Amino acid sequence: MTNKIRIYKLAQDLDRDYKIILEEAKELGIKAKSHVSSVTEEEAELIKESFKEPKQEPKPEIKEEIQVEQIRRNIIPRSPVVTVMGHVDHGKTQLLDTIRHTNVIARESGGITQHIGACKVDLKGKGSIVFIDTPGHEAFTAMRARGARITDIVVLVIAGDDGVMPQTIEAINHAKAADVPIIVAINKMDLPEFDAEKVRTQLSHHDILTENWGGDVIAIEISAKKNQNVDELLEMILLQAEMLELKAPIDDPVKGIVIETELDKQTGPTGTIIITEGTLKIGDSFVCGNVSGKVKAMTDEASLRLKTAGPSTPVKILGFEGLAMTGDILNVVEDKISAREIVEKRKLKIQKDEVSGSGQVTLEDLQKQLLGEENKELRIILKTDVTGSLEAIKDALIKLQIEEVALNIIHSGVGAVTRKDIMLASASNAIIISFNISTSGGIMKEAESEGVQIRNYRVIYEIIDDIKKSLEGMLEPEESEITLGQAEVKKIYIISGVGTIAGCNVINGQILRKAQVKVLRDSKIVYVGSVAALKRFKNDVAEVNQGYECGINIDNFNDVKVRDIIESFQLEKRKRTLEEAQ
Ligand code: GDP
Repeated sequence: MTNKIRIYKLAQDLDRDYKIILEEAKELGIKAKSHVSSVTEEEAELIKESFKEPKQEPKPEIKEEIQVEQIRRNIIPRSPVVTVMGHVDHGKTQLLDTIRHTNVIARESGGITQHIGACKVDLKGKGSIVFIDTPGHEAFTAMRARGARITDIVVLVIAGDDGVMPQTIEAINHAKAADVPIIVAINKMDLPEFDAEKVRTQLSHHDILTENWGGDVIAIEISAKKNQNVDELLEMILLQAEMLELKAPIDDPVKGIVIETELDKQTGPTGTIIITEGTLKIGDSFVCGNVSGKVKAMTDEASLRLKTAGPSTPVKILGFEGLAMTGDILNVVEDKISAREIVEKRKLKIQKDEVSGSGQVTLEDLQKQLLGEENKELRIILKTDVTGSLEAIKDALIKLQIEEVALNIIHSGVGAVTRKDIMLASASNAIIISFNISTSGGIMKEAESEGVQIRNYRVIYEIIDDIKKSLEGMLEPEESEITLGQAEVKKIYIISGVGTIAGCNVINGQILRKAQVKVLRDSKIVYVGSVAALKRFKNDVAEVNQGYECGINIDNFNDVKVRDIIESFQLEKRKRTLEEAQ
């Protein structure tokens, strides 16, 4: 078997950007999709050969753009923020521990490491990565539900001796709903039962196509426990991040996202923030969700005290006046007084919303919201009693698909509606459909407070009927023209200050003052517009019926001629059925 070489390795060997290598491969007719694609040794030789002659590298236009941005806003590249997700016991915690152990604890200047909810690992000169070290997708989705997008890359851990499991699928759906790229870590390669091929095949059934499945999702075989290939995984994360071209402004007003909060007996409420924009300093006043505060002290995961913290830096902050929530956004404001004022206003608004009962997104609201929008999508989370009903409902819903409104089942499963489902629905503006399962009062309450609608059903037909009606409600109405009547021009009167008045005889139907008109000459339309005046003798009238004479002055049109036909018409909006749209 010939050895295969990845494009990014080749790029490293040749000291070129991998994009240039990809371009060269394309020119040579060698198939390679991305930086993780592999080529044969012979192909690698061919590529290397073509770089022997000095080649003019294309001018990197993007860099110029960055420079321009930098002169405007001082934007710098930032480290990727990664969340580790996957099924229970597949090795998420072990992976984070191994990474922390080899990359954080080893830091010379580090003090006692503490769990602060996120950690930054430095890869000796290659860059750094921020890991949110509360594994699992609950925190990930809780953050999204509050409108905070912090994760740049999801590392999906799958134990190679176990394969794709329900929470793996859940994690895939969460990452997809958030449109965050996935890197797969097939874990436990040290075990004899390890079968990476099986995992790749299973992933393909969930539209995660790894390299040898014709896709470009990176999948690395690792052992988190034995620390095998973990470095390669970290390198892949950096490569993926490079493609995302992550940048952040450092001088802009400070913005950060809460990862974790804690109520400490000695220090009071604290919170770990990942800065997304600007540079946070000791003494800054801030608002964070419904809490205000002033930064008294900042520490990193190695217990080091920091004076400033820039983008993609996780820091634990002392100085909150209350306990913030995961996913809350922190904004630095002018001073303590304005921070308190803003928080008061926010609290008042919440009270008002609670009284008016606003906030919940119902199927009916979605209909209204989406009407008039271009890319409509109805997102559904489906939970049922057994797999039989799940498949039956999915099949029936798929049959309702129309081009105009995408019907997207972002997550489905057997069993009761859970907190995670609510979070995902809230983060993705989806509704939850539950079939033949009871939903506890606690979950209903939680859904209500998160603004998520759970629709419980016992009959499949009713689900289909409801969704059908909703989709119909989202269809843009069809406009059709209704002809009201016609008048023939018999005489032309030119009146100074008014313009041309067509003396007409209504030959069929009626002419309405408020309707639009078409002027037809030899059966051809010469003008379409509105009526400026409709008169019977000298009086203004709203309508003139068949058989009567009238005077018509057309708005902005004086070129009317004897024997022209003036046709009165109205545009009518008509609702369409799903069948008509299909
Ligand atoms: P989590 O629930 O996904 O966080 O899983 P854990 O990290 O707690 O790991 C579950 C179990 O798998 C633990 O007993 C780990 O020691 C074990 N484990 C994790 N990674 C590996 C690995 O690479 N090889 C082996 N053999 N065991 C592992």
